[in-house]
Amino acid sequence: ALRSALRSKVHPKAGRLCYSSSSAPTVKLFIDGKFVESKSSEWLDIHNPATNEVIARVPKATQEEMLAAVDSCSRAFHTWSETSVLSRQQIFLRYQQLIKDNIKELAKSITLEQGKTLADAEGDVFRGLQVVEHTCSITSLMLGETLPSITKDMDTYTYRLPIGVCAGIAPFNFPAMIPLWMFPMGMVCGNTYLLKPSERVPTCAMLLAKMLQDAGAPDGTLNIIHGQHAAVNFICDHPAIKAISLVGSNQAGEYIYERGSKNGKRVQSNMGAKNHGVVMPDANKENTLNQLVGAAFGAAGQRCMALSTAILVGEARSWLPELVQRAKALRVNAGDQPGADVGPLISPQARDRVCSLIQSGVDEGAQLLLDGRNVKVKGYENGNFVGPTIISNVTPEMKCYKEEIFGPVLIVLEADSLDDAIRLVNNNPYGNGTAIFTTNGATARKYTHEVDVGQVGVNVPIPVPLPMFSFTGSRGSFRGDTNFYGKQGIQFYTQIKTVTSQWKAEDATLKSPAVTMPT
Ligand code: NAD
Repeated sequence: ALRSALRSKVHPKAGRLCYSSSSAPTVKLFIDGKFVESKSSEWLDIHNPATNEVIARVPKATQEEMLAAVDSCSRAFHTWSETSVLSRQQIFLRYQQLIKDNIKELAKSITLEQGKTLADAEGDVFRGLQVVEHTCSITSLMLGETLPSITKDMDTYTYRLPIGVCAGIAPFNFPAMIPLWMFPMGMVCGNTYLLKPSERVPTCAMLLAKMLQDAGAPDGTLNIIHGQHAAVNFICDHPAIKAISLVGSNQAGEYIYERGSKNGKRVQSNMGAKNHGVVMPDANKENTLNQLVGAAFGAAGQRCMALSTAILVGEARSWLPELVQRAKALRVNAGDQPGADVGPLISPQARDRVCSLIQSGVDEGAQLLLDGRNVKVKGYENGNFVGPTIISNVTPEMKCYKEEIFGPVLIVLEADSLDDAIRLVNNNPYGNGTAIFTTNGATARKYTHEVDVGQVGVNVPIPVPLPMFSFTGSRGSFRGDTNFYGKQGIQFYTQIKTVTSQWKAEDATLKSPAVTMPT
Protein backbone atom coordinates (compact mmCIF):
# COMPACT_ATOMS: atom_id res chain seq x y z
CA ALA A 1 0.00 0.00 0.00
CA LEU A 2 2.84 2.34 0.90
CA ARG A 3 4.64 1.59 -2.30
CA SER A 4 1.62 2.18 -4.49
CA ALA A 5 1.23 5.63 -2.92
CA LEU A 6 4.65 6.52 -4.19
CA ARG A 7 4.58 5.16 -7.69
CA SER A 8 2.32 6.17 -10.51
CA LYS A 9 1.41 2.56 -11.23
CA VAL A 10 1.03 -0.24 -8.77
CA HIS A 11 3.76 -2.78 -8.89
CA PRO A 12 2.17 -6.19 -9.55
CA LYS A 13 4.21 -9.09 -8.22
CA ALA A 14 7.73 -8.52 -6.98
CA GLY A 15 10.39 -9.77 -9.30
CA ARG A 16 8.45 -11.45 -12.08
CA LEU A 17 7.18 -8.65 -14.24
CA CYS A 18 8.38 -7.43 -17.51
CA TYR A 19 7.88 -3.83 -18.49
CA SER A 20 9.19 -2.09 -21.49
CA SER A 21 11.19 0.88 -20.35
CA SER A 22 8.42 3.37 -21.15
CA SER A 23 5.59 1.44 -19.44
CA ALA A 24 7.37 0.82 -16.12
CA PRO A 25 6.08 2.59 -13.01
CA THR A 26 7.83 5.84 -12.21
CA VAL A 27 9.48 6.82 -8.97
CA LYS A 28 8.28 10.21 -7.78
CA LEU A 29 10.10 13.16 -6.29
CA PHE A 30 9.28 14.30 -2.76
CA ILE A 31 8.98 18.05 -2.79
CA ASP A 32 7.45 20.24 -0.12
CA GLY A 33 5.54 17.37 1.41
CA LYS A 34 4.15 16.00 -1.87
CA PHE A 35 5.08 12.98 -3.91
CA VAL A 36 5.18 14.50 -7.39
CA GLU A 37 5.75 13.15 -10.87
CA SER A 38 8.87 14.61 -12.44
CA LYS A 39 8.57 16.61 -15.64
CA SER A 40 12.03 15.45 -16.68
CA SER A 41 12.73 14.24 -20.18
CA GLU A 42 15.58 12.08 -18.85
CA TRP A 43 14.79 8.83 -17.08
CA LEU A 44 16.82 5.83 -15.94
CA ASP A 45 15.55 2.26 -15.87
CA ILE A 46 15.73 0.35 -12.62
CA HIS A 47 16.31 -3.37 -12.98
CA ASN A 48 15.69 -6.32 -10.74
CA PRO A 49 19.29 -7.61 -10.38
CA ALA A 50 18.05 -11.22 -10.19
CA THR A 51 16.34 -11.06 -13.60
CA ASN A 52 17.45 -7.83 -15.25
CA GLU A 53 13.83 -7.03 -15.98
CA VAL A 54 12.89 -3.37 -15.89
CA ILE A 55 10.85 -2.78 -12.73
CA ALA A 56 10.64 1.00 -12.54
CA ARG A 57 11.97 4.24 -13.94
CA VAL A 58 13.59 7.03 -11.98
CA PRO A 59 13.84 10.60 -13.24
CA LYS A 60 16.88 12.81 -13.41
CA ALA A 61 15.24 15.76 -11.67
CA THR A 62 15.17 18.97 -13.66
CA GLN A 63 16.95 22.11 -12.49
CA GLU A 64 13.56 23.64 -11.62
CA GLU A 65 12.58 20.64 -9.53
CA MET A 66 15.88 20.65 -7.67
CA LEU A 67 15.51 24.38 -6.99
CA ALA A 68 11.97 23.81 -5.73
CA ALA A 69 13.26 21.10 -3.39
CA VAL A 70 16.02 23.22 -1.88
CA ASP A 71 13.72 26.25 -1.60
CA SER A 72 11.27 24.08 0.27
CA CYS A 73 14.07 23.03 2.66
CA SER A 74 15.07 26.68 3.15
CA ARG A 75 11.53 27.80 3.93
CA ALA A 76 10.91 24.93 6.32
CA PHE A 77 14.16 25.61 8.15
CA HIS A 78 12.81 28.80 9.70
CA THR A 79 10.07 26.99 11.59
CA TRP A 80 11.70 23.59 12.01
CA SER A 81 14.84 25.02 13.61
CA GLU A 82 12.59 26.83 16.11
CA THR A 83 10.44 23.76 16.79
CA SER A 84 11.11 22.54 20.31
CA VAL A 85 13.55 19.71 20.70
CA LEU A 86 10.83 17.74 22.51
CA SER A 87 8.52 18.02 19.49
CA ARG A 88 11.26 16.87 17.16
CA GLN A 89 11.99 13.99 19.50
CA GLN A 90 8.32 12.93 19.46
CA ILE A 91 8.34 12.74 15.66
CA PHE A 92 11.34 10.44 15.68
CA LEU A 93 9.85 8.31 18.45
CA ARG A 94 6.84 7.74 16.19
CA TYR A 95 9.13 7.25 13.19
CA GLN A 96 11.15 4.43 14.74
CA GLN A 97 7.92 2.58 15.51
CA LEU A 98 6.66 2.99 11.94
CA ILE A 99 9.94 1.64 10.58
CA LYS A 100 9.67 -1.36 12.91
CA ASP A 101 6.07 -1.96 11.83
CA ASN A 102 7.06 -1.87 8.14
CA ILE A 103 10.40 -3.64 8.21
CA LYS A 104 9.24 -6.48 5.96
CA GLU A 105 7.84 -4.16 3.32
CA LEU A 106 11.04 -2.10 3.32
CA ALA A 107 13.11 -5.27 3.03
CA LYS A 108 11.04 -6.47 0.08
CA SER A 109 11.67 -3.26 -1.81
CA ILE A 110 15.40 -3.54 -1.07
CA THR A 111 15.59 -7.11 -2.33
CA LEU A 112 13.67 -6.24 -5.48
CA GLU A 113 15.88 -3.30 -6.47
CA GLN A 114 19.20 -4.12 -4.84
CA GLY A 115 19.22 -7.92 -4.95
CA LYS A 116 20.37 -8.85 -1.44
CA THR A 117 18.56 -11.64 0.39
CA LEU A 118 15.41 -10.76 2.31
CA ALA A 119 17.01 -11.64 5.64
CA ASP A 120 19.97 -9.42 4.86
CA ALA A 121 17.65 -6.64 3.68
CA GLU A 122 15.92 -6.73 7.06
CA GLY A 123 19.37 -6.30 8.61
CA ASP A 124 19.89 -3.29 6.33
CA VAL A 125 16.71 -1.69 7.71
CA PHE A 126 17.49 -2.75 11.26
CA ARG A 127 20.91 -1.11 11.36
CA GLY A 128 19.38 2.13 10.06
CA LEU A 129 16.54 1.84 12.54
CA GLN A 130 19.09 1.74 15.36
CA VAL A 131 20.33 5.16 14.27
CA VAL A 132 16.74 6.47 14.30
CA GLU A 133 16.28 5.04 17.79
CA HIS A 134 19.43 6.84 18.84
CA THR A 135 18.16 10.16 17.48
CA CYS A 136 15.34 9.85 20.03
CA SER A 137 17.96 10.68 22.69
CA ILE A 138 18.43 14.09 21.10
CA THR A 139 17.48 15.87 24.31
CA SER A 140 20.71 14.60 25.83
CA LEU A 141 22.79 14.43 22.67
CA MET A 142 22.35 18.11 21.87
CA LEU A 143 23.20 19.43 25.31
CA GLY A 144 25.70 22.24 25.37
CA GLU A 145 28.25 22.97 28.06
CA THR A 146 28.44 25.50 30.84
CA LEU A 147 31.18 26.79 33.07
CA PRO A 148 30.11 29.26 35.70
CA SER A 149 32.40 31.92 37.20
CA ILE A 150 34.93 31.99 34.38
CA THR A 151 35.97 35.19 36.05
CA LYS A 152 34.20 37.36 38.56
CA ASP A 153 30.46 37.43 37.84
CA MET A 154 31.02 35.96 34.41
CA ASP A 155 29.58 32.66 33.09
CA THR A 156 30.10 30.90 29.79
CA TYR A 157 27.73 28.45 28.15
CA THR A 158 27.33 26.88 24.75
CA TYR A 159 24.36 25.92 22.64
CA ARG A 160 24.36 23.40 19.82
CA LEU A 161 22.34 24.88 16.99
CA PRO A 162 21.30 23.51 13.61
CA ILE A 163 23.26 24.80 10.62
CA GLY A 164 20.60 25.08 7.91
CA VAL A 165 19.80 22.95 4.89
CA CYS A 166 21.87 19.75 4.80
CA ALA A 167 22.12 17.21 2.00
CA GLY A 168 22.85 13.50 1.72
CA ILE A 169 24.05 11.55 -1.32
CA ALA A 170 23.65 7.79 -0.89
CA PRO A 171 25.08 4.64 -2.52
CA PHE A 172 23.23 1.59 -3.82
CA ASN A 173 24.39 -1.04 -1.38
CA PHE A 174 22.38 -0.07 1.72
CA PRO A 175 19.15 1.50 0.49
CA ALA A 176 17.75 1.86 4.04
CA MET A 177 20.68 1.99 6.43
CA ILE A 178 22.66 4.73 4.78
CA PRO A 179 19.84 7.22 4.15
CA LEU A 180 18.93 6.55 7.79
CA TRP A 181 22.47 7.50 8.83
CA MET A 182 21.81 10.83 7.16
CA PHE A 183 18.45 12.64 7.34
CA PRO A 184 17.26 11.52 10.82
CA MET A 185 20.49 12.77 12.43
CA GLY A 186 20.43 15.99 10.43
CA MET A 187 16.74 16.68 11.03
CA VAL A 188 16.53 15.84 14.70
CA CYS A 189 19.17 18.52 15.26
CA GLY A 190 16.80 21.05 13.66
CA ASN A 191 18.18 21.09 10.12
CA THR A 192 16.09 20.48 7.03
CA TYR A 193 17.29 17.85 4.60
CA LEU A 194 17.67 17.27 0.89
CA LEU A 195 18.30 13.61 0.08
CA LYS A 196 19.52 12.14 -3.18
CA PRO A 197 19.21 8.37 -2.92
CA SER A 198 21.16 6.13 -5.23
CA GLU A 199 19.49 6.31 -8.63
CA ARG A 200 19.75 2.50 -8.73
CA VAL A 201 17.69 1.81 -5.59
CA PRO A 202 15.46 4.84 -4.95
CA THR A 203 12.22 3.23 -3.74
CA CYS A 204 13.27 2.38 -0.20
CA ALA A 205 14.11 6.04 0.48
CA MET A 206 10.65 7.03 -0.81
CA LEU A 207 9.01 4.56 1.56
CA LEU A 208 11.09 5.96 4.40
CA ALA A 209 10.02 9.49 3.45
CA LYS A 210 6.35 8.52 3.50
CA MET A 211 6.75 7.02 6.97
CA LEU A 212 8.49 10.14 8.20
CA GLN A 213 5.62 12.21 6.90
CA ASP A 214 3.18 9.88 8.64
CA ALA A 215 5.20 10.31 11.83
CA GLY A 216 4.46 14.03 11.64
CA ALA A 217 7.48 15.64 9.99
CA PRO A 218 6.25 18.98 8.59
CA ASP A 219 6.26 19.63 4.83
CA GLY A 220 9.63 20.72 3.53
CA THR A 221 11.71 19.31 6.36
CA LEU A 222 12.73 16.43 4.06
CA ASN A 223 12.87 16.74 0.27
CA ILE A 224 14.05 14.04 -2.14
CA ILE A 225 15.46 14.52 -5.60
CA HIS A 226 16.73 11.85 -7.95
CA GLY A 227 19.50 11.91 -10.50
CA GLN A 228 23.18 11.45 -11.14
CA HIS A 229 25.96 13.94 -11.78
CA ALA A 230 23.78 17.02 -12.37
CA ALA A 231 21.99 16.41 -9.05
CA VAL A 232 25.33 15.90 -7.29
CA ASN A 233 26.76 19.11 -8.76
CA PHE A 234 23.60 20.97 -7.81
CA ILE A 235 24.03 19.86 -4.20
CA CYS A 236 27.74 20.76 -4.16
CA ASP A 237 27.08 24.22 -5.60
CA HIS A 238 23.82 25.52 -4.16
CA PRO A 239 24.63 28.23 -1.60
CA ALA A 240 21.69 27.38 0.69
CA ILE A 241 23.13 23.91 1.37
CA LYS A 242 25.52 24.09 4.31
CA ALA A 243 26.64 20.49 4.73
CA ILE A 244 26.89 17.34 2.62
CA SER A 245 27.07 13.73 3.75
CA LEU A 246 28.26 11.34 1.08
CA VAL A 247 28.62 7.60 1.18
CA GLY A 248 29.94 6.03 -1.99
CA SER A 249 32.99 5.20 -4.05
CA ASN A 250 36.27 7.10 -3.84
CA GLN A 251 35.63 8.56 -7.25
CA ALA A 252 32.38 10.16 -6.05
CA GLY A 253 33.53 10.90 -2.50
CA GLU A 254 36.75 12.68 -3.39
CA TYR A 255 35.01 14.72 -6.08
CA ILE A 256 32.13 15.74 -3.78
CA TYR A 257 34.49 16.50 -0.91
CA GLU A 258 36.55 18.79 -3.09
CA ARG A 259 33.70 20.55 -4.87
CA GLY A 260 31.58 20.95 -1.75
CA SER A 261 34.51 22.15 0.39
CA LYS A 262 35.55 24.68 -2.25
CA ASN A 263 32.05 26.09 -1.96
CA GLY A 264 32.47 26.51 1.79
CA LYS A 265 30.35 23.56 2.89
CA ARG A 266 31.05 20.97 5.53
CA VAL A 267 31.54 17.62 3.82
CA GLN A 268 31.89 14.12 5.26
CA SER A 269 32.71 11.43 2.66
CA ASN A 270 32.63 7.76 3.61
CA MET A 271 34.22 5.88 0.74
CA GLY A 272 35.65 2.59 -0.54
CA ALA A 273 37.53 -0.09 1.31
CA LYS A 274 39.75 -3.12 1.31
CA ASN A 275 39.20 -4.76 4.66
CA HIS A 276 41.71 -7.32 5.90
CA GLY A 277 40.99 -10.20 8.26
CA VAL A 278 44.15 -11.42 9.98
CA VAL A 279 43.87 -15.08 10.97
CA MET A 280 46.28 -16.21 13.69
CA PRO A 281 47.01 -19.93 14.03
CA ASP A 282 45.73 -19.85 17.64
CA ALA A 283 42.28 -18.65 16.56
CA ASN A 284 39.13 -20.69 17.15
CA LYS A 285 39.14 -22.39 13.77
CA GLU A 286 35.45 -23.19 13.41
CA ASN A 287 34.38 -19.74 14.49
CA THR A 288 36.94 -17.95 12.35
CA LEU A 289 36.20 -19.82 9.14
CA ASN A 290 32.48 -19.22 9.51
CA GLN A 291 33.04 -15.54 10.31
CA LEU A 292 35.33 -15.12 7.30
CA VAL A 293 32.94 -16.78 4.88
CA GLY A 294 29.94 -14.82 6.15
CA ALA A 295 31.76 -11.50 6.04
CA ALA A 296 33.34 -12.05 2.62
CA PHE A 297 30.29 -13.34 0.76
CA GLY A 298 27.29 -11.87 2.61
CA ALA A 299 25.42 -9.31 0.48
CA ALA A 300 27.45 -10.77 -2.41
CA GLY A 301 30.44 -8.83 -1.08
CA GLN A 302 28.72 -5.52 -1.76
CA ARG A 303 29.39 -4.05 1.66
CA CYS A 304 31.93 -1.37 2.41
CA MET A 305 32.82 -3.42 5.49
CA ALA A 306 32.95 -6.79 3.68
CA LEU A 307 35.99 -8.74 4.82
CA SER A 308 37.37 -9.12 1.32
CA THR A 309 40.99 -9.94 2.13
CA ALA A 310 42.24 -12.68 4.42
CA ILE A 311 45.81 -12.79 5.72
CA LEU A 312 46.62 -16.26 6.98
CA VAL A 313 49.48 -16.14 9.46
CA GLY A 314 51.85 -19.11 9.86
CA GLU A 315 50.08 -22.43 10.33
CA ALA A 316 46.67 -20.88 9.61
CA ARG A 317 47.66 -21.36 5.96
CA SER A 318 46.61 -24.96 6.26
CA TRP A 319 42.97 -23.91 6.81
CA LEU A 320 42.49 -22.90 3.18
CA PRO A 321 40.85 -26.13 1.94
CA GLU A 322 38.26 -25.93 4.70
CA LEU A 323 37.61 -22.29 3.92
CA VAL A 324 36.91 -23.26 0.32
CA GLN A 325 34.54 -26.05 1.41
CA ARG A 326 32.47 -23.66 3.50
CA ALA A 327 32.30 -21.04 0.76
CA LYS A 328 31.24 -23.71 -1.75
CA ALA A 329 28.32 -24.68 0.46
CA LEU A 330 26.69 -21.24 0.21
CA ARG A 331 23.56 -21.16 -1.94
CA VAL A 332 23.50 -18.60 -4.73
CA ASN A 333 19.96 -17.55 -5.59
CA ALA A 334 17.58 -14.64 -6.08
CA GLY A 335 17.30 -12.72 -2.84
CA ASP A 336 13.61 -13.49 -2.34
CA GLN A 337 14.09 -17.26 -2.68
CA PRO A 338 14.07 -19.36 0.49
CA GLY A 339 17.51 -20.38 1.66
CA ALA A 340 19.42 -17.93 -0.52
CA ASP A 341 22.80 -16.97 0.95
CA VAL A 342 24.30 -14.98 -1.90
CA GLY A 343 22.17 -12.81 -4.17
CA PRO A 344 23.06 -11.15 -7.46
CA LEU A 345 25.32 -8.16 -8.05
CA ILE A 346 23.66 -4.84 -8.75
CA SER A 347 24.18 -4.78 -12.54
CA PRO A 348 25.65 -6.70 -15.49
CA GLN A 349 28.45 -4.08 -15.54
CA ALA A 350 29.26 -4.82 -11.90
CA ARG A 351 29.30 -8.56 -12.65
CA ASP A 352 31.62 -8.06 -15.65
CA ARG A 353 33.94 -5.87 -13.61
CA VAL A 354 34.14 -8.45 -10.80
CA CYS A 355 34.79 -11.24 -13.32
CA SER A 356 37.55 -9.26 -15.00
CA LEU A 357 39.22 -8.58 -11.62
CA ILE A 358 39.11 -12.32 -10.90
CA GLN A 359 40.73 -12.95 -14.28
CA SER A 360 43.39 -10.32 -13.61
CA GLY A 361 44.40 -12.27 -10.50
CA VAL A 362 44.74 -15.45 -12.54
CA ASP A 363 46.73 -13.62 -15.23
CA GLU A 364 49.07 -12.15 -12.62
CA GLY A 365 49.85 -15.57 -11.13
CA ALA A 366 47.40 -15.98 -8.25
CA GLN A 367 45.65 -19.29 -7.69
CA LEU A 368 41.92 -19.56 -8.26
CA LEU A 369 40.75 -22.01 -5.58
CA LEU A 370 37.05 -21.42 -6.11
CA ASP A 371 35.65 -19.84 -9.27
CA GLY A 372 32.12 -18.45 -9.10
CA ARG A 373 32.07 -16.88 -12.55
CA ASN A 374 30.02 -19.51 -14.28
CA VAL A 375 27.42 -20.04 -11.66
CA LYS A 376 23.95 -20.89 -13.03
CA VAL A 377 20.85 -20.06 -11.06
CA LYS A 378 17.81 -22.01 -12.19
CA GLY A 379 14.95 -19.74 -13.17
CA TYR A 380 17.19 -16.66 -12.97
CA GLU A 381 19.47 -17.23 -15.94
CA ASN A 382 19.61 -13.51 -16.75
CA GLY A 383 20.55 -12.40 -13.24
CA ASN A 384 23.89 -10.78 -12.34
CA PHE A 385 25.14 -13.71 -10.31
CA VAL A 386 28.70 -14.50 -9.34
CA GLY A 387 29.23 -17.35 -6.90
CA PRO A 388 31.68 -17.27 -4.00
CA THR A 389 35.20 -17.03 -5.34
CA ILE A 390 38.49 -17.51 -3.50
CA ILE A 391 41.85 -16.44 -4.90
CA SER A 392 45.00 -17.39 -2.99
CA ASN A 393 48.70 -16.59 -3.42
CA VAL A 394 47.75 -12.98 -3.97
CA THR A 395 50.46 -10.34 -3.57
CA PRO A 396 50.11 -6.60 -2.91
CA GLU A 397 51.19 -5.67 -6.45
CA MET A 398 48.25 -7.45 -8.05
CA LYS A 399 45.30 -5.52 -9.41
CA CYS A 400 42.81 -7.70 -7.51
CA TYR A 401 44.53 -6.62 -4.29
CA LYS A 402 44.81 -2.95 -5.14
CA GLU A 403 41.22 -2.40 -6.28
CA GLU A 404 38.05 -2.70 -4.24
CA ILE A 405 36.34 -5.67 -5.93
CA PHE A 406 32.88 -5.20 -4.36
CA GLY A 407 31.75 -8.70 -5.20
CA PRO A 408 31.72 -12.18 -3.63
CA VAL A 409 35.46 -12.62 -3.91
CA LEU A 410 37.82 -13.39 -1.04
CA ILE A 411 41.47 -12.85 -1.80
CA VAL A 412 44.00 -14.58 0.40
CA LEU A 413 47.52 -13.46 1.30
CA GLU A 414 49.95 -15.13 3.64
CA ALA A 415 52.23 -13.73 6.34
CA ASP A 416 54.92 -15.31 8.50
CA SER A 417 54.22 -13.23 11.58
CA LEU A 418 51.80 -10.78 13.14
CA ASP A 419 54.26 -7.95 12.41
CA ASP A 420 54.27 -8.87 8.71
CA ALA A 421 50.46 -8.90 8.68
CA ILE A 422 50.27 -5.48 10.35
CA ARG A 423 52.77 -4.08 7.85
CA LEU A 424 50.64 -5.37 4.97
CA VAL A 425 47.43 -3.83 6.32
CA ASN A 426 49.10 -0.51 7.12
CA ASN A 427 50.63 -0.29 3.65
CA ASN A 428 47.19 -0.55 2.08
CA PRO A 429 45.76 2.92 1.39
CA TYR A 430 42.26 2.16 2.72
CA GLY A 431 41.35 2.32 6.41
CA ASN A 432 37.70 1.37 6.73
CA GLY A 433 37.72 -1.83 8.75
CA THR A 434 39.83 -4.80 9.77
CA ALA A 435 39.57 -7.80 12.06
CA ILE A 436 41.93 -10.10 13.87
CA PHE A 437 41.02 -13.66 14.81
CA THR A 438 42.95 -14.95 17.79
CA THR A 439 42.54 -16.45 21.26
CA ASN A 440 45.54 -14.55 22.60
CA GLY A 441 44.78 -11.28 24.35
CA ALA A 442 48.27 -9.87 23.92
CA THR A 443 48.17 -10.56 20.18
CA ALA A 444 44.77 -8.86 19.92
CA ARG A 445 46.00 -5.90 21.92
CA LYS A 446 49.12 -5.48 19.80
CA TYR A 447 47.02 -5.60 16.65
CA THR A 448 44.42 -3.10 17.81
CA HIS A 449 47.15 -0.69 18.90
CA GLU A 450 49.42 -0.93 15.89
CA VAL A 451 47.03 -1.31 13.00
CA ASP A 452 46.25 1.98 11.24
CA VAL A 453 42.59 1.34 10.43
CA GLY A 454 39.63 3.26 11.82
CA GLN A 455 37.43 0.29 12.85
CA VAL A 456 38.94 -2.86 14.31
CA GLY A 457 37.25 -6.12 15.24
CA VAL A 458 38.69 -8.69 17.62
CA ASN A 459 36.98 -11.94 16.64
CA VAL A 460 34.30 -9.67 15.12
CA PRO A 461 34.52 -9.74 11.33
CA ILE A 462 32.45 -6.63 10.51
CA PRO A 463 33.04 -4.18 13.35
CA VAL A 464 30.50 -1.52 12.39
CA PRO A 465 30.02 0.55 15.53
CA LEU A 466 26.52 0.93 16.99
CA PRO A 467 25.02 4.42 16.84
CA MET A 468 26.13 5.50 20.32
CA PHE A 469 29.60 5.39 18.76
CA SER A 470 30.43 6.71 15.28
CA PHE A 471 31.41 5.11 11.98
CA THR A 472 35.12 5.86 12.02
CA GLY A 473 36.64 4.66 8.76
CA SER A 474 39.99 6.37 8.19
CA ARG A 475 42.78 7.12 5.69
CA GLY A 476 41.73 6.41 2.07
CA SER A 477 38.23 5.40 3.17
CA PHE A 478 37.24 8.79 4.55
CA ARG A 479 37.47 12.48 3.75
CA GLY A 480 36.46 15.08 6.27
CA ASP A 481 37.05 15.41 9.98
CA THR A 482 33.72 14.54 11.57
CA ASN A 483 32.28 11.07 11.16
CA PHE A 484 28.78 9.73 10.64
CA TYR A 485 26.28 9.27 13.50
CA GLY A 486 26.88 9.15 17.25
CA LYS A 487 28.47 12.18 18.93
CA GLN A 488 30.42 12.93 15.77
CA GLY A 489 27.22 13.01 13.74
CA ILE A 490 25.67 15.52 16.14
CA GLN A 491 28.80 17.61 15.82
CA PHE A 492 28.65 17.47 12.04
CA TYR A 493 25.07 18.68 11.93
CA THR A 494 25.33 21.42 14.54
CA GLN A 495 27.10 24.69 15.07
CA ILE A 496 28.23 25.71 18.54
CA LYS A 497 27.35 29.13 19.81
CA THR A 498 29.28 30.23 22.90
CA VAL A 499 27.79 32.89 25.13
CA THR A 500 29.81 34.74 27.72
CA SER A 501 27.77 36.89 30.08
CA GLN A 502 28.48 39.07 33.04
CA TRP A 503 25.87 39.99 35.63
CA LYS A 504 27.21 41.91 38.57
CA ALA A 505 25.25 42.13 41.75
CA GLU A 506 26.42 45.66 42.51
CA ASP A 507 26.62 48.56 40.08
CA ALA A 508 29.91 48.14 38.22
CA THR A 509 29.58 50.59 35.42
CA LEU A 510 32.93 50.97 33.65
CA LYS A 511 34.37 54.37 34.42
CA SER A 512 36.48 54.53 31.25
CA PRO A 513 36.91 52.53 28.00
CA ALA A 514 38.70 49.22 28.53
CA VAL A 515 41.25 49.38 25.72
CA THR A 516 43.61 46.70 26.96
CA MET A 517 43.04 43.00 27.03
CA PRO A 518 42.03 41.98 30.53
CA THR A 519 44.80 40.21 32.44
P1 NAD B 1 28.89 5.46 -6.26
O1 NAD B 1 30.05 6.31 -5.90
O2 NAD B 1 28.77 4.98 -7.63
O3 NAD B 1 27.53 6.27 -5.94
C1 NAD B 1 27.32 6.93 -4.71
C2 NAD B 1 26.51 8.20 -4.96
O4 NAD B 1 27.32 9.13 -5.67
C3 NAD B 1 25.27 7.95 -5.83
O5 NAD B 1 24.20 8.70 -5.29
C4 NAD B 1 25.69 8.43 -7.20
O6 NAD B 1 24.63 9.01 -7.91
C5 NAD B 1 26.77 9.44 -6.94
N1 NAD B 1 27.89 9.34 -7.89
C6 NAD B 1 28.31 8.25 -8.56
N2 NAD B 1 29.40 8.51 -9.29
C7 NAD B 1 29.68 9.80 -9.08
C8 NAD B 1 30.71 10.65 -9.57
N3 NAD B 1 31.65 10.24 -10.39
N4 NAD B 1 30.71 11.93 -9.16
C9 NAD B 1 29.78 12.37 -8.30
N5 NAD B 1 28.78 11.60 -7.83
C10 NAD B 1 28.73 10.33 -8.19
O7 NAD B 1 28.87 4.28 -5.20
P2 NAD B 1 27.96 2.99 -5.26
O8 NAD B 1 28.46 2.12 -6.36
O9 NAD B 1 26.54 3.36 -5.23
O10 NAD B 1 28.31 2.34 -3.84
C11 NAD B 1 29.41 1.49 -3.65
C12 NAD B 1 30.60 2.22 -3.07
O11 NAD B 1 30.23 2.87 -1.85
C13 NAD B 1 31.72 1.28 -2.70
O12 NAD B 1 32.95 1.89 -3.04
C14 NAD B 1 31.61 1.15 -1.18
O13 NAD B 1 32.78 0.80 -0.52
C15 NAD B 1 31.16 2.51 -0.83
N6 NAD B 1 30.49 2.50 0.45
C16 NAD B 1 31.15 3.04 1.51
C17 NAD B 1 30.58 3.00 2.74
C18 NAD B 1 31.29 3.59 3.92
O14 NAD B 1 30.63 3.87 4.92
N7 NAD B 1 32.61 3.78 3.85
C19 NAD B 1 29.32 2.43 2.92
C20 NAD B 1 28.66 1.90 1.80
C21 NAD B 1 29.26 1.95 0.57
